[in-house]
Amino acid sequence: MTDTNQTQNVDPSEISKFNDIASRWWDTNSEFKPLHDINPLRVNYINQHSPVAGLKVADIGCGGGLVSEGLARLGANVTGIDMGETPINVAKLHLHESELDIEYRQMTAEALAEERPGQYDVVTCLEMLEHVPDPASVIAACSTLVKPGGIVYFSTINRNPKAWLFAIVGAEYILNMLPKGTHEYAKLIQPAELDEWAQTAGLKTQGMTGMHYNPFTKHYKLGEGVDVNYLMHCTKTV
Ligand code: SAH
Repeated sequence: MTDTNQTQNVDPSEISKFNDIASRWWDTNSEFKPLHDINPLRVNYINQHSPVAGLKVADIGCGGGLVSEGLARLGANVTGIDMGETPINVAKLHLHESELDIEYRQMTAEALAEERPGQYDVVTCLEMLEHVPDPASVIAACSTLVKPGGIVYFSTINRNPKAWLFAIVGAEYILNMLPKGTHEYAKLIQPAELDEWAQTAGLKTQGMTGMHYNPFTKHYKLGEGVDVNYLMHCTKTV
């Protein structure tokens, strides 16, 4: 890891994981199938808690742009940022197909926060925190980006034996839904940890929901129980 990357809160091995497979981001049968499958659930959850038409949204760790496009399609004015060069290029290229207008930039959450503090109504940071060296710093940047009263969404994976069994062993080794090594157990985040980092950053947790996968029906649904995948929303208090 270079000094620059250390000061940037970026893990180069995480970025290369996504760079290597990013060309298949919009292939619904690729390793990104789980993200495609959960996307309508995530986008609806966000739009229910903060109807996004006409709002300014920052999508942190946007990857190939699934969430950015979902929200832009509902009328949001979206900025998507990601440190992966290939994911950002894939996201930009896909705009030719979707004919949406989204600003994509290769940068960190911290850098965008320095440039545009308090400029966004909504910030989304989905399935990204478990890939960064210092998640609390990204959470603080998300809080800086959002206006007072604005809403920030986080989703990630809990850290406990069940989450290890379902999200790592099940998804990567048994069902082959994700490439092996996608998620590292030690980097998973418990809801209480996320809540504490959010509070420290001036965010108040308003709600949390689980994202559940049924391997028999192959369907996802939102619902109670945050012991594996979960999604939460917070409001900016100061
Ligand atoms: N949020 C998207 C993509 C999740 S995959 C979705 O849910 O559909 C995780 C993404 O985080 C990858 O695209 C990866 O390149 C990006 N990422 C990892 N570390 C990052 C960092 N420090 N800064 C910005 N993006 C990062």
